[in-house]
Amino acid sequence: MTTYKICLLPGDGIGPEIIAEGTKVLDAVGARYDVSFEYETALIGGAAIDACGMALPEETLETAKACDAVLLAAVGGPKWDTTDPEKPRPEQGLLGIRKGLGLYTNLRPVQIFNALADASTLKPEVIDGVDLMIVRELTGGLYFGMRERFYDEEGAGTGGAKGQRAYDTLEYSEYEIERIARQAFEIARKRRSKVTSVDKANVLETSRLWREIVHRIHDAEYADVELEDLLVDNTAMQLIDRPADFDVMVTENMFGDILSDEAAQITGSLGMLASASLGDGTALYEPSHGSAPDIAGRGIANPLAQIMSVEMMLRYSFDMGEAADDIRRAIVATLDEGWRTGDIRSTDTPDDKVVGTAAMGDLIVERL
Ligand code: NAD
Repeated sequence: MTTYKICLLPGDGIGPEIIAEGTKVLDAVGARYDVSFEYETALIGGAAIDACGMALPEETLETAKACDAVLLAAVGGPKWDTTDPEKPRPEQGLLGIRKGLGLYTNLRPVQIFNALADASTLKPEVIDGVDLMIVRELTGGLYFGMRERFYDEEGAGTGGAKGQRAYDTLEYSEYEIERIARQAFEIARKRRSKVTSVDKANVLETSRLWREIVHRIHDAEYADVELEDLLVDNTAMQLIDRPADFDVMVTENMFGDILSDEAAQITGSLGMLASASLGDGTALYEPSHGSAPDIAGRGIANPLAQIMSVEMMLRYSFDMGEAADDIRRAIVATLDEGWRTGDIRSTDTPDDKVVGTAAMGDLIVERL
């Protein structure tokens, strides 16, 4: 029997409640597929700050590296909110673990569950059939480039007006673009074989390099996949206008950050979106939402995004596509039968169909 070691990072807020439902589902999959999952729990975020004064203890990173995959819930909360740059912040744990594990690809699937279609602000005919995957470059570009803020004594370039200045730099190497492009084409081959590469090539030099490299990789290795280029501003419009036309969308770090939040809104249910961050070693899986401190400890959080991050783990880290499909079918069946957590209930959901975190996890396991 194969044994996989999973590093669990419950983090803060609703984190411990929802991650328990993730492992419940993993255990059920294990029993069915003759695979066993072993867990090692480590600290991250506010919980780690409380215990040892930093958001990502070295021990946590070492544990994560030694495991086959990482399942993270969420970090943060008002207790640790600070604008003091000297104080540790929970989000440093997230950035630190992404960097520490070399997770350069972020995958955010955006799918519509028919049972929840009325949660979207878009018309049903526009969102019908939406099933897209955003592939965002995660460790380069504007968020990782050189930056500085300084007092400009000369007022250079502003007609002598002195004052503060700041800059951030957007830089990509051929290597960084090649590896993210390959990831996108590989994923497209497992889906509907279409990639939309998003850039701003009419203005940015990095985007012109991006476009050139994406086409070179496509022509040489993935000519069977359809490739289209789209400028980022146009993409923002097209996502709302014709979201069902997209299959895989690949883009740089900041464009991906913005477009994936826009795409998430198409579904209307934040508690239903998962993400995967992949590199060359251990990958990390997490829900897209935060730690929901407003409902923490009440047993009412929606565990489905966490459970869908388990689905992604099985698909991308363990090549267990069949088991991942089982989880997806169990979620669809549960929703089709009308079961809801409070965040996704609608005005016509009867009270007796509204369940808490653990009961929702049980419903999924029963349907597996
Ligand atoms: P949030 O996603 O935590 O919550 C936004 C709203 O959605 C809240 O009303 C919350 O109750 C609800 N919600 C979120 N997830 C839910 C779930 N699974 N079930 C039911 N309802 C859910 O965003 P926020 O309020 O902006 O941030 C709260 C904290 O989370 C902050 O400290 C923020 O920094 C942190 N955060 C962490 C991550 C992460 O860990 N990846 C991401 C975003 C925000």
